[in-house]
Amino acid sequence: EASPSPKKQISNVTVCSRFRPLSSKERKDHGGRVCVCRIDDETFVFKDEKEEESTFSFDKVFYEDSLQADVYEFLALPIVRDAVNGVNGTIITYGQTGAGKTYSMEGPNVLESDDMKKGLLPRVVDGLFEHIASAGDSIKYKIKLSMVEIYMEKVRDLFDLSKDNLVIKQSKDHEMLISGVTEASELLPLLSLSGKLVHLFSAWYWYETTDSLVRHSRSFAKPTCKIVSFENVFFKCIFLVLMLRLNLQAGIQNRAVGETQMNLASSRSHCAYIFTVQPDSTRDRGKTGKLVLVDLAGSEKVEKTGAEGKLLDEAKTINKSLSALGNVINALTCSSSKAIHIPYRDSKLTRLLQDALGGNSRTALICCCSPSTSNSSETFSTLRFGIRAK
Ligand code: ADP
Ligand code: MG
Repeated sequence: EASPSPKKQISNVTVCSRFRPLSSKERKDHGGRVCVCRIDDETFVFKDEKEEESTFSFDKVFYEDSLQADVYEFLALPIVRDAVNGVNGTIITYGQTGAGKTYSMEGPNVLESDDMKKGLLPRVVDGLFEHIASAGDSIKYKIKLSMVEIYMEKVRDLFDLSKDNLVIKQSKDHEMLISGVTEASELLPLLSLSGKLVHLFSAWYWYETTDSLVRHSRSFAKPTCKIVSFENVFFKCIFLVLMLRLNLQAGIQNRAVGETQMNLASSRSHCAYIFTVQPDSTRDRGKTGKLVLVDLAGSEKVEKTGAEGKLLDEAKTINKSLSALGNVINALTCSSSKAIHIPYRDSKLTRLLQDALGGNSRTALICCCSPSTSNSSETFSTLRFGIRAK
């Protein structure tokens, strides 16, 4: 068996900030005004409650009029393209609850088709297939999707809620693996896009399955399906894109189910969407790319509000993992020599991201912010986190 070719060393961290529009609640209930003053696409002046001004610069600033498509094209598209070529990548949304992390990641929902609203996840799915299709017939690919939630340093499988304390391991070739995690490729039969015989569910069948898949998503039973063959890569792509999006949707629904059962708020846990893009031949196996999108827990300082008990424990755990993440990104961006210690082991989150942050990888961090003066102290700390990561 041929040994996998050594991975190219690319270290690339992009840090952006994104301001959502001022909400009517902020304006009416809190007397909020916009506290960001645009200078250009990279720099703005931020005014805090005391009208003190600070200037911030990022690789890119997305203001309230930014389009979902702009965000994807600037920071996700290069990562998606590289994932197909075997380079790992991470896209992270950071910010206080309500700042627009989930909106940036998912859009209103992952099945959204309106291009104005569609978030990063459905665009990443489209992008993966576009790049695979354009790679032509020479390589067959397999895409796998896993979804996990990290709450109180426990990793839970969003495709199978009974697996609520998964173990993160490192393989011999330094890949990070979650033992026993469900991979949704089981629901994506025959994912290779090339080849002469391309199997597909017939059109009427997908629409029938669409509903029942979502309804039965918790058990994740493999649908028994009628298979017809299609030579048309275009139709196959559309179908697989739809299946992947349905899988995403199922995982997100499961997350909500788990939260209701345990009386949790999604803003208090991290959610990771893990795509593995694997060339389906031994020769190219070393070119497997992992793409992880992370919708982080809210970064707000709960401790200051005098929280107690479970809430305080949650807050401490979140703080710890967010600062671990900040430390890792900081160590990566500062390290000119390899001697520097990168503290991946300090949290489950950084451990999970170990092979997708640093080394052979590309990272994009989106610091999501409210534009309101009523949130300026949280926004200030979000911006500081971003600046530190640069
Ligand atoms: P978070 O996930 O950070 O807690 P959300 O993504 O849920 O925050 O956003 C909070 C609210 O703001 C939602 O109602 C969402 O629709 C809205 N919102 C966030 N970002 C934008 C944006 N860029 N444009 C329009 N509405 C947005
Ligand atoms: Mg959210």
